[in-house]
Amino acid sequence: MNILVINCGSSSLKFQLINSDSEEVLAKGLCERIGIDGALTYQKSGCDKEESKPAMPDHKKAIQLVLDALMNDKTGVIKDLKEVGAVGHRVVHGGERFTKSAVLTDDVIKGIEECNDLAPLHNPANLIGINACKELMPSTPMVAVFDTAFHQTMPSKAYTYAIPHEYYDKYKVRRYGFHGTSHAYVSKRTAEILGKKYDELKTIVCHLGNGASICAVNCGKSVDTTMGLTPLEGLAMGTRSGDLDPAIVEFIANKDKLTTAEALNVLNKKSGVLGMSGVSSDFRDIEEAANGGNKLAANALDVYYYRVAKYIGAYMVALGGADAIAFTAGLGENSITARANICKYLEFLGIKIDDAANNCRGKEAVISTADSKVKVLAVPTNEELAIARETLALV
Ligand code: AMP
Repeated sequence: MNILVINCGSSSLKFQLINSDSEEVLAKGLCERIGIDGALTYQKSGCDKEESKPAMPDHKKAIQLVLDALMNDKTGVIKDLKEVGAVGHRVVHGGERFTKSAVLTDDVIKGIEECNDLAPLHNPANLIGINACKELMPSTPMVAVFDTAFHQTMPSKAYTYAIPHEYYDKYKVRRYGFHGTSHAYVSKRTAEILGKKYDELKTIVCHLGNGASICAVNCGKSVDTTMGLTPLEGLAMGTRSGDLDPAIVEFIANKDKLTTAEALNVLNKKSGVLGMSGVSSDFRDIEEAANGGNKLAANALDVYYYRVAKYIGAYMVALGGADAIAFTAGLGENSITARANICKYLEFLGIKIDDAANNCRGKEAVISTADSKVKVLAVPTNEELAIARETLALV
């Protein structure tokens, strides 16, 4: 069966058409600037990328353009819409209701709408994509795969904030965690690579991309994770601050005459390694600047590595010791120096990196020495494939 995987944002939409038998990506691409001037990037597997600028006034039109591209005489990969057997939608927030993926019925859509408050930037955009697909493909089964679902196994000691309980009772304020699809995929893959049983392995997954989070996975279940009610908590990220003293929000708002929303915008969009270095949110630029002697860039990297290592230490406690640590996403898969610098903090735990094995990018590898107390791996994530697998399982 061919499964169309859709990841819809407020003005962009990523897609992949995956054959679920071979797990091959038949075609993939991206619609950007939806509702502005529109740009479509489309790539059939094995061919060059095609870029065009068709009018894209709304998401329905964007999805129509994607379907047209998939059925195009020359570079298409299917002849008829019937060849799309199902659609898998990434949905950011499933609240406490969605503990696993769900077939998109009217009731499930209502449930996603009810989580809009918890992810006002993401869930409404995800719903726009879902509704547009439903209009264009009314008889194709669709599935929602939630970023939060994997973390619903966390115990209450890990998800409860130390604030008055009424905020949980009234508004469901608690830790939810994100990147669940990636943490689940990478922890499972880690067990497979090591030849261990998934339900017997304790793994710390470090998803280090532009957004970043760590998850403690105990025998296949998330028991703690660094992101919280929103993706702002935890690690320092490309542009997000991660953990800080909440009083800072009022302090900078008062000093710079900002509203709460403006102060939070600073923490979401202008902080992290971008804010600390003043260079860029892209780690390649920051590594280059640090190597060229830029002290702020070097300090930003130190802060970043230190916090990742500190959370790995915390999750060693959460798991009562880990069998494996897996690095994934843009930085985790590709930065040899980031992995080496983070793991230096862990040497006292008997964790040893094999420099030759660590000298790899974008591929699966065990990067620790044979006598390392904990196996350390690089494991490329594949959220689209994970969404396609979940979708297949439900339809
Ligand atoms: P992601 O959000 O998973 O796509 O990760 C994007 C981030 O990965 C970018 O902002 C880069 O900072 C980082 N990244 C990608 N490739 C490399 C690389 N070769 N070295 C260092 N960082 C990288």
